[in-house]
Amino acid sequence: MEFETKAIHMGQEPDKATGATITPIYQTSTYTHDALGKHKGYDYSRADNPTRHALEVALASLENGKYGLCFASGLAATSTVLNLLKAGDEVVTGDDLYGGTVRLFDKIYSNFNIKFTYVDGTNPKNFESAITGKTKLIWLETPTNPLLRVFDINEVSKIAKAKKLILAVDNTFASPYFQKPLDLGADIVVHSTTKYLGGHSDVVGGAIITSNNDLFEELKFIQKSVGAIPGPFDSWLVLRGIKTLAVRMKKHEENAMQIAEFLSNHPKIKKVNYPGLKSHPQYELAKKQMTGFGGMISFEVNGGIDTVKKIVEGTKLFALAESLGGVESLIGHPVTMTHAEVPEEHKEKLGLSEGLIRISVGIEGTNDLINDLKQALDGKGSSSTKNNKAIVV
Ligand SMILES: *Cc1c(COP(=O)(O)O)cnc(C)c1O
Repeated sequence: MEFETKAIHMGQEPDKATGATITPIYQTSTYTHDALGKHKGYDYSRADNPTRHALEVALASLENGKYGLCFASGLAATSTVLNLLKAGDEVVTGDDLYGGTVRLFDKIYSNFNIKFTYVDGTNPKNFESAITGKTKLIWLETPTNPLLRVFDINEVSKIAKAKKLILAVDNTFASPYFQKPLDLGADIVVHSTTKYLGGHSDVVGGAIITSNNDLFEELKFIQKSVGAIPGPFDSWLVLRGIKTLAVRMKKHEENAMQIAEFLSNHPKIKKVNYPGLKSHPQYELAKKQMTGFGGMISFEVNGGIDTVKKIVEGTKLFALAESLGGVESLIGHPVTMTHAEVPEEHKEKLGLSEGLIRISVGIEGTNDLINDLKQALDGKGSSSTKNNKAIVV
């Protein structure tokens, strides 16, 4: 079945009880048993819920996986993967990650004597060199946030397999429409469904997909035991979002490509990070492991914080906000927003500079978006005329 068809139909058959075409929001915590020891497959909504189940089936099929598990947030999904580990275990991870993931690794799980080793993921050999006898998990995020670096999932998966390690890939930026890590050898895919899967900036959620029976059993047990599950309404919103994932991703990419080219030719801009540009250092790899380059771009401007401020406050359509992947365009300053808590030395090592701006390109009209960036870059806009207020979480 084609991706577009799966997104609309998998897990989403007409409701057996009523014929409702759209999966109902089963807003219930519990289920009445037919008799002692006999129920219809559901007993308590922390363990399972029909609306959540529909989403889990749909997401598994979009990633070409066997099993899906949904969570209250992307970070709840990530922490569920980390809960596979025990004190003393080690994780080797790419060094360019979502800021909240770094915080979860360094500020929470390191307290439980789990060690995280950060390596430059652009060379797969770096993962191999950092593996010790205690390593259990390799964590990859690709394309990375906010520098849009691309790491070779298949090469890293060979290393993981040779050493019998679990490879987990955060696939939030590409979405399953553009990248399928399980097909490339990963064991686990993690998503913040808050982003492209939900797609409308109206819900926070997360997911794990795997085809490995043993890992699924363990992760399902953790989901039920820890309980970081999404409610039925939130599950339903993501389910509705994914129906249009394919058409949205195409437009995100079409807009992003033209904007990346526009930015590359602008005199105020030093550098543009977008995997779809031939100048991107991993352009060939991106072309090989992804079927499209996505809607996220970051760029470095000439000048300091004052220049940055003028640009991020000067756009009228691009809202100054965290998050990404919604239909509306957003602009942000990673160093003071999404990545504010990343330690200074880590920022420096990565090249996360003060002049870096990140945009999540929405699906508005291409020319409107380019004109908006143009007027903000050329300093013609005034921040008082901005439609959208800064929303910083
Ligand atoms: C947003 C994000 C997360 C965290 O997801 P939440 O839903 O905010 O908890 C993890 N990884 C990436 C790449 C993200 O962009």
